[in-house]
Amino acid sequence: MTSPYDALYRQSVEQPEAFWAEQARLIDWHQAPTQILDASRPPFCRWFVGGQTNLCHNAVDRHLAERGEQPALIAISTETGSERSYTFRELHAEVQRTAAMLLELGVRRGDRVLIYMPMIAEAAFAMLACARIGAIHCVVFGGFASGSLASRIEDAEPKVVVSADAGSRGGKVVPYKPLLDEAIRLSAHKPAAVLLYDRGLAAMELMAGRDHLAGAEGQKHAQARVPCTWLDATDISYTIYTSGTTGRPKGVQRDVGGYAVALAASMQHIFDGRAGETYFSTSDIGWVVGHSYIVYGPLIAGMATIMYEGLPTQGLDRQPDGGIWWRLVEKYKVTVMFSAPTAVRVLKKQDPALLRKYDLSSLRALFLAGEPLDEPTARWISEGLGVPIIDNYWQTESGWPIITLPVGVERRPAKFGSPGIAMYGYKVKIVHESTGEELTAPNEKGVVVIEGPTPPGFMQTVWRDDQRFVDTYWKSIPGQLVYSTFDWGIRDEDGYYYILGRTDDVINVAGHRLGTREIEEAISGHANVAEVAVVGVADALKGQVAMAFVVPRTGNAATDNADAMKLEGEIMKRVADDLGALARPARVRFVPGLPKTRSGKLLRRAIQAVCEQRDPGDLTTLDDPATLQAVRAAVAAG
Ligand code: ATP
Ligand code: MG
Repeated sequence: MTSPYDALYRQSVEQPEAFWAEQARLIDWHQAPTQILDASRPPFCRWFVGGQTNLCHNAVDRHLAERGEQPALIAISTETGSERSYTFRELHAEVQRTAAMLLELGVRRGDRVLIYMPMIAEAAFAMLACARIGAIHCVVFGGFASGSLASRIEDAEPKVVVSADAGSRGGKVVPYKPLLDEAIRLSAHKPAAVLLYDRGLAAMELMAGRDHLAGAEGQKHAQARVPCTWLDATDISYTIYTSGTTGRPKGVQRDVGGYAVALAASMQHIFDGRAGETYFSTSDIGWVVGHSYIVYGPLIAGMATIMYEGLPTQGLDRQPDGGIWWRLVEKYKVTVMFSAPTAVRVLKKQDPALLRKYDLSSLRALFLAGEPLDEPTARWISEGLGVPIIDNYWQTESGWPIITLPVGVERRPAKFGSPGIAMYGYKVKIVHESTGEELTAPNEKGVVVIEGPTPPGFMQTVWRDDQRFVDTYWKSIPGQLVYSTFDWGIRDEDGYYYILGRTDDVINVAGHRLGTREIEEAISGHANVAEVAVVGVADALKGQVAMAFVVPRTGNAATDNADAMKLEGEIMKRVADDLGALARPARVRFVPGLPKTRSGKLLRRAIQAVCEQRDPGDLTTLDDPATLQAVRAAVAAG
């Protein structure tokens, strides 16, 4: 018997035009498309050709008639202790004010606006204002320093930069203005104007003629009426950079119409989010999840969205509170929540009873994405919440989930370790990395690829570099024009995929290929392992050997030699028992924390470089330099 989702999926890949024409009805069009898909120049796809629409109209204006007085944006900062809710009507007014300011600063359709902002409501206003007037936004994560910001300014060439005096993290004020000034100094491109929000957190030195205070400007435009500019569906809505986990970040470029349709469809089929309800994503607008599921997706669906500034462990009174997120779920009757495994691991270190203190009955599901969801973390949160935990596999490039469970269509059992099945529109395949041959038998390991045409919402190209788009993503599998995710995976007999790590995370020990992820899984099963990273290190004899870096949960393994020796022995034995002696790491080293990107992903390439005494390369996305120092020290200690 075909299940409802099987039927939907089949139509999406066999008759993509009919399928997406139907999905296109989920949004408002100023002009209906004349051609659903133009795939005449593969691998490029142009969706909804001839159609005209606007993301801001779909996220804001079209809800005014029916739900103008309902909450649209709830901005909460446990850093400043503020909490403010905007109805769709208020959001409409704020966005027009911001749009008027941008227009006055000379921003026109197609111009870039770089947004370097903390997680405050004004950041969302700025994104929506750009969408409204057809400017291309380029949001840069507020945690980045001058170097990363400068390279992005240079690449995007913004006419205007929107920023603020400061962000705040764990109670520590991080002034943005000096970082921005330095970035502009470093960049060959200079923006014509900078629009600054003053939160009263840090003093700002203004540069006459260039810098403008949004407070004063906003006053002038308090009553501004700025209509939506109708854009071609194939126009550019924004660019965003990948996390840079594996190399130099890539400027992912997205369209207008395809993205709007993809998000509207995903809110229905994947997230099961309904108009009038509240969506809470704990991500940041600097990441793709923030674009799709803090700002655009929930609003397009007519939901209220929570924007959260702060750690998951501090309350609005700025006292420690590991229950703050659940408090918000209760207060705002959140139905759909989206977070990352790394955040759940932080909460796991807190008192587990915290979860039981709140009424979480509104919640239907918790979605997690961005990195592999390990079984202990998944079990802990699923038992604590009592709602389905849905793993999501996707990329900045895709804009929305590639592999997950379509809870809006039907309930399928989750399998631990698997994000789920292929989403509609995605022809996901497993292929042999060197022959390119498709591996159709269950559980055969290969590269996860996507066969074109890619669905709406998927990246159009690399910003200003079509050749890099084709060469990077579409030429890595011999003899075939398929999109490589650069992740290893398998598909089981029920069509569930398992992601086994990145293609550059494979090590070759004496001619045997081992996935670092598999070794990590074995190690993380040890009760005293909080976190682990395994990298392959060049070895004269064996080609490569595995090196493990472990953050112990308790005890003194990091400092006490006897503890360390004992734990190292236990871990070695575990790996040998699970995967065989060959997979056993050459050494297990103990560190207080692991080098990660600002989005919480392990920077294995940096650890590997340190082990091999190479230059770790681009570290602009490294969150805490002390972690890499600790790795260095552990390696030096022998
Ligand atoms: P770069 O491409 O610049 O090296 P990045 O790949 O880390 O950076 P993102 O687009 O943010 O940038 O991350 C996508 C990657 O994250 C995926 O290719 C995959 O490796 C990993 N990932 C995301 N979600 C999951 C998941 N649910 N399970 C396993 N891995 C995941
Ligand atoms: Mg990537």
